[in-house]
Amino acid sequence: MEPVVPLPLDLSTLDSLTQSAKDYAVLNGLTYLTGGQNNTSDLVSFAPFALLPSPVPRALFVQARAVQKDFNLLVHRVSHDRAFLSRCLSSVVKVDNFTASLFHIYEQVQEEGVTQPICLGLHRSDYLLDNTTNNDGVGTNGVTACRQLQLKQTEINTIAAAGAGFGEKIARVHKHVLNLLGVADAYKHIPENRALDSQLDGFVAAWEQYGSQKAIIVFVVEEERCRNVFGQRLSEFTVMERHPGLVVKRYSLRQIAEDAELKSDKTLFMQVHGSEVAVVYFRAGYSPAHYPTEKEWSARLKIERSRAIKCPCISYHLAGTKKVQQELAQPGVLERFLEDPKAVSRVRATFAGQHTLEMGLEGDRTVQMVMRSPEDYVMKPQREGGGNNIYGEDIRTVLNELMQKDFEERTAYIVMDLICPAVLQNYFIRPGDWPRLQDSSCELGIYGVFMAEGDQVFHNKQGGHYLRTNGSSGGDGGVYVGNAVLDSPYLV
Ligand code: ADP
Ligand code: MG
Repeated sequence: MEPVVPLPLDLSTLDSLTQSAKDYAVLNGLTYLTGGQNNTSDLVSFAPFALLPSPVPRALFVQARAVQKDFNLLVHRVSHDRAFLSRCLSSVVKVDNFTASLFHIYEQVQEEGVTQPICLGLHRSDYLLDNTTNNDGVGTNGVTACRQLQLKQTEINTIAAAGAGFGEKIARVHKHVLNLLGVADAYKHIPENRALDSQLDGFVAAWEQYGSQKAIIVFVVEEERCRNVFGQRLSEFTVMERHPGLVVKRYSLRQIAEDAELKSDKTLFMQVHGSEVAVVYFRAGYSPAHYPTEKEWSARLKIERSRAIKCPCISYHLAGTKKVQQELAQPGVLERFLEDPKAVSRVRATFAGQHTLEMGLEGDRTVQMVMRSPEDYVMKPQREGGGNNIYGEDIRTVLNELMQKDFEERTAYIVMDLICPAVLQNYFIRPGDWPRLQDSSCELGIYGVFMAEGDQVFHNKQGGHYLRTNGSSGGDGGVYVGNAVLDSPYLV
């Protein structure tokens, strides 16, 4: 694939374009905090972005949008299958304390009876554009038999699927850049992105379903302001702007542990604000670091037991674990959850090979396979947020270490075929740095908005997109972790 304009740009064009794009980004609120992870400063800059939109084949973009409603339904069905979830996670919970703690809450609530049967899902399914497939579509790990790109899912995020507010903003920056480059006509290749609106529709639908005018929406956030605070604030403030009277409040898990009361009818009540809580949206709670003490776990349990509608509820959170996704990729499993064979095909077509590391023959086979050619695989723990995966030779090292220690700990991980995305050049624009022309590859996220009570689906929508572009230096990590930049698709 070719970049949208021939590269490199001449230096004076690049210089003025970059300055203008940066200023446009700041003026339009494409911003983040720059003072480090535990942010106590007020230093703000533009969020890192790609100077040019990245070409994405239209057919793959359409395919990714078309499969989102299937994924929404799949998550819901999986989350309601206790036997399946328990079986999938039974080995993981023995060796992974974090997943075990989540699972413990799940079990406790299942035993007590779920108070709030309505589930709200704001998911994001992420894809790489795979460049390593042969003609029959079977991944051949490293052999480029034909150049037809394929959509391959890296994961679906069922908790804290960030970025909804910035997709539209970066598209505007890109239109501004195209305009300055004298190719304003190219606007038509940049698709509309209603990600923020779709997310808001989900919040409001859940709040209305809860049915109390005075009840508030709570965003669960980290104790310290995180880098991406403005992305969160955008959702928060836009809800309140569009629905005057509907209040959104931010609390940390610690604050909820200390302040929230679970009334006898299971109403969740924030005492400091004097408000009943209709919807709890988790922007934190997906990482062990968000639970430094037992207090935070008690808050998660309190929320889960309450009548508030959770986004996500604990079973959606568990349905989004890497282990569940690996099990769903096994032959015959999707059919258990999706009765429509076309839906099964749509979903399966996006799957890359995934392999178990459970103790036993099959897991042993995975170990042998990976030890032979680790460069063809990714090893993933049950973690979210980027920067946790293990690649290449490091996989050998980690497996060898586990073998010497306690080999059962391998079951905390799954193995996935390495997707080798199409590479093209783009300028990476980061605060305090020169524009850097780099090899890059994009990761396309599609949002899903879903609300249901048991078999009754109230809301099932594809909800806009999010494009990140990664440097090809290896490793992973989101825009706010370091490696990636915000981008928008240029459909070709
Ligand atoms: P996390 O929950 O930490 O975001 P992901 O499964 O999304 O975990 O992996 C993080 C990053 O690693 C992805 O954004 C992608 O860049 C890269 N990645 C994940 N799976 C693969 C894969 N199978 N092949 C190549 N890169 C991958
Ligand atoms: Mg991810």
